[in-house]
Amino acid sequence: MPEFNRRGLMQQALQARRKAYAPYSLYPVGSALLAANGDVISSASVENACIAADICAPHGAFLKAVSESYREFVALAIATLNGDPPCGICRQVIAEFAPDIVVLLVNEAGEFEELSMAAVMATPFGPHPA
Ligand code: ZN
Repeated sequence: MPEFNRRGLMQQALQARRKAYAPYSLYPVGSALLAANGDVISSASVENACIAADICAPHGAFLKAVSESYREFVALAIATLNGDPPCGICRQVIAEFAPDIVVLLVNEAGEFEELSMAAVMATPFGPHPA
């Protein structure tokens, strides 16, 4: 596993979680994405009255990062009430841009679990040769 400040990254995910817009689920989520150059891109979940328009925190972090030209990533911290894993759509988004990333699932108390992407998503959908 690569060396980086796990506690610092998780703290940023917990801080991002406080900015979530989650009036429908009451389940705020925060993410902090560590790029290879050391920058951290954070995001919070943003819900919508039309549930299909919701953007999860990990998804939002990748949207921000990729749209700012980041392409290499080291780790992703996801902060939830209970340290829950990302949803399927987020797993696919992570797999697209960071198939070897380290994923930290942190709960409100700061307890965490560290997973490889192979554990998070063993068989992502990928591009197929023509
Ligand atoms: Zn998601």
